[in-house]
Amino acid sequence: MTKTRIYLDHAATTRLHPQALEAMRPFLDGEFGNPSGRYVLGKQAARAIDKARNSVAEALGCRPQEVVFTGPGTESINAAIKGVAFAQQFAGLGNHIVTTSIEHHAVLHSCDYLSKFGFETTHVPVDSYGLVSPEDVARSVNERTVLVSVMLANNEVGTVEPLADITRAVRERAESMRRRISIHTDAVQGANALDLNVKLDVDLLSLSAHKFCGPKGAGVLYIKRGTPFLEHMSGGGQERQRRAGTENVAGIAGTAAALREAQAVRGEYARHCRELSTRLLEGVLKSVPGAKLTGHPDQRLPNNAHLSFEGAESDPMLAALDRLGVAASAGSACTSATWEPSHVLTAMGMPLSRAAGVLRLTCGPENSEDEIDYVLSVLPGVVAESRAKARPGLSAK
Ligand code: PLP
Repeated sequence: MTKTRIYLDHAATTRLHPQALEAMRPFLDGEFGNPSGRYVLGKQAARAIDKARNSVAEALGCRPQEVVFTGPGTESINAAIKGVAFAQQFAGLGNHIVTTSIEHHAVLHSCDYLSKFGFETTHVPVDSYGLVSPEDVARSVNERTVLVSVMLANNEVGTVEPLADITRAVRERAESMRRRISIHTDAVQGANALDLNVKLDVDLLSLSAHKFCGPKGAGVLYIKRGTPFLEHMSGGGQERQRRAGTENVAGIAGTAAALREAQAVRGEYARHCRELSTRLLEGVLKSVPGAKLTGHPDQRLPNNAHLSFEGAESDPMLAALDRLGVAASAGSACTSATWEPSHVLTAMGMPLSRAAGVLRLTCGPENSEDEIDYVLSVLPGVVAESRAKARPGLSAK
């Protein structure tokens, strides 16, 4: 297939890996049986799910029975948060959740939803790099807390959170209070570059296949044995009563193949992406006056280059890049009508004059140095044009 565009939005989604496609193909065609069927076609599908579950369990370092296949990452996260919250509330054990102010909306809106059922949420703040302090998280735990949910890496600015330290601090605090507190992590942005082994000591972990070259609409929820959990989908009892509904056999097979591949080449992926994003960042900081890196300089996903341009606006820059053949993103849209910047940038304390003009450029294995150099050659003009046309109040300093 000819490549006509430069794709720098791998945090949004990724291209299906050929091995994932191969793994999926039989179940989109001849092997279409329902895994609950008692005949050969059904048994073939059930076997494929077993194989996929074993493979995902190996990548996570957990038992196959602890792996639940879900719909997209959003579903996995909803299931985790609501599943623990309702189980513990039903048992009379509490109604408080601790999370951070920079989580994906799947987490934040799940917590908002639970407020209708009497839950309260503490949103732990972050510093100007988007880093969460383990001590702050532990201090937010109280005698009603049932769940702590902290993301592994941020989807907008790429900051990687100190999750092992956070879980340690929460476990110590929980022990001192003699409370059982479940810990969930949204690891949706981590699967390409980070170790997902549950030595991270979480109780629940969410993944989304399309972020690591698997199919869209398929995800994984790891639930450690013994974790309190009420299922969000009731029905035929699939996935050991934890997620009812006829299984997405092709999606599950594709997810497992993609995860296996992503974890196998994790080191090489990180090296390649780090080289490209460093080239990009250094080039932009040199050639565009007033450009600034967002997020942590080191503790960041290797493929993420998030930049702010004082006095420019995201939407016109994205449109200009698109006309020039470059697919990029602002991470989360600054709602143009209201000029409301992303909740992540607001939480990091970024002023509006910067937060209104940001670009998230996330590379992947198929990007090349030539592509980065092309972006570097057009970006100064794109930023200058946007600044010249920016609405009053955002003019460059
Ligand atoms: N969590 C994070 C950190 C994400 O980046 C995303 C998607 O952008 C999600 C959750 C939601 O995943 P999905 O698109 O598979 O529902």
